[in-house]
Amino acid sequence: MPMSELLQVQGLRKAFGGVQAVDGVGFALAAGELLALIGPNGAGKSTCFNMINGQLAPDAGSVRFAGREISGWRARDIWRLGVGRTFQVAATWASMTVVENVQIALLSHHRQLYRFWARAAKLHRDEALELLGAVGLRARADEPCSTLAYGDVKTLELAIALASRPKLLLMDEPTAGMAPGERNALMQLTGDLARKRGIGVLFTEHSMDVVFAHADRILVLARGRLIAHGTPAEIRANEQVREVYFGSGRIAQGLRRAGERDAPAAVPSR
Ligand code: ADP
Ligand code: MG
Repeated sequence: MPMSELLQVQGLRKAFGGVQAVDGVGFALAAGELLALIGPNGAGKSTCFNMINGQLAPDAGSVRFAGREISGWRARDIWRLGVGRTFQVAATWASMTVVENVQIALLSHHRQLYRFWARAAKLHRDEALELLGAVGLRARADEPCSTLAYGDVKTLELAIALASRPKLLLMDEPTAGMAPGERNALMQLTGDLARKRGIGVLFTEHSMDVVFAHADRILVLARGRLIAHGTPAEIRANEQVREVYFGSGRIAQGLRRAGERDAPAAVPSR
């Protein structure tokens, strides 16, 4: 096992009633790596995420993070160990400023309580501003969150996730609802920050253009099973992936489109 390996998942399984949502999934993820988990709706992507972050207990399988077996741990304990995830900015926080939203996340990270907020408005402001700077939102810090454009709200969600200093960041459809250009910008930013800070990122994304352009490696899930696993170049050339997705709308189109132009990360072994 390479020393940089952060996450190792083996034989992960989860059924809901008669539905085997996740049926023996295994993979590894290294620090600083962007790993995409793709597959059609209902393939089991979110269920995988929820088992890794402790929202759901697996029926079987192993999740090793930073050298520890964490399957079955409580979500909060997994989060404390360094597994972060993006959350949608809650509507209730929309009246607060951009920087206050990050300060709230920092209060939680530093184990202080929201109810002291009134007295703590200055707490962690510098650290919050540093995080906003890292995602390009420094200039918007003192504006109410409600004035942000949708793409900036999604970027703020990334800053909030980074506030807990995760070693592994789980992003389930982080760009949902964004325009194509914004999707690319957010995943570019995520990739830059992940590499710079050595954060491993597992993400789902519906746009195959975005996946092929930004993922270091891709896992393809269908009906709870991994049917392919490789670099963008390998996945693009994979006949089984083409067969399974041919005609299934965006995924098949994305494979064709991405195959027509060379995404930078995809040049190596062809
Ligand atoms: P994806 O994120 O890839 O769209 P999900 O992991 O959400 O897929 O769902 C995988 C399968 O498990 C689907 O058939 C879905 O209907 C089912 N499922 C997911 N969560 C639940 C749940 N809490 N209760 C019952 N069935 C669920
Ligand atoms: Mg999902």
